Amino acid sequence: MNQEVYKKIINQIPSHVQLIAVSKTKPESEVMEAYQLGQRHFGENWAQELKTKHEHLPEDICWHFIGHLQTNKIKYIIPYVHLIHSIDSFRLLQEVNRLAAMHQRTVGCLLQFHIATEETKFGFSMEECRQMLESQEFQNLQNIEIRGVMGMASLTDDIQQVHQEFRTLHQYFDELKQNYFSENKNFKEISMGMSHDYPIAIEEGSTMIRVGSAIFGARNYGKR
Ligand SMILES: *Cc1c(COP(=O)(O)O)cnc(C)c1O
Repeated sequence: MNQEVYKKIINQIPSHVQLIAVSKTKPESEVMEAYQLGQRHFGENWAQELKTKHEHLPEDICWHFIGHLQTNKIKYIIPYVHLIHSIDSFRLLQEVNRLAAMHQRTVGCLLQFHIATEETKFGFSMEECRQMLESQEFQNLQNIEIRGVMGMASLTDDIQQVHQEFRTLHQYFDELKQNYFSENKNFKEISMGMSHDYPIAIEEGSTMIRVGSAIFGARNYGKR
């Protein structure tokens, strides 16, 4: 890992912003190197990889699931996952709730919104999300807690566009907070910002940045 960059980010970010170190594809030794520097929150996007790392690495690590989650993979992470950032359908949320109930726990979740112009990114639209939140089936879910929103901006050099997309996510957060979660003090997270755009995300009100390659270097997906 790049310790200099890590320390720089830690020293730079405001105290209300939490750094999630994205360790996907990286060996356990690199997670431990960051752990030795005090890092406790790590993000992964592949359920089996998260399961193996959880088994081998210290108990006090808080594991964040940040990637697209398939319903048949939830079982690998449900007993211990700290926060699932990537809830992108009601079906997925129902399945997380069902398995969380089996493990007698409440699992923290963020609602992922589609804010980028690119077609490939997962996430709710505001309309889909409202429909879900107003349904009786949603009210019945007892083993999940919605703690905020997550989104990814377009991969573009147009800084104004990135600002605008993050600002949109912040507006969605405000609307949900006001209309559905005003009584819930745990609904407070806006997970946005990655290696290349986290300073912009922080300017737009991010509370969690998910930073991988800036800290751990470029990824090699071939090794999985
Ligand atoms: C990989 C990933 C990140 C980290 O990306 P970097 O550009 O390496 O910082 C953040 N969020 C999600 C959802 C990811 O999949």
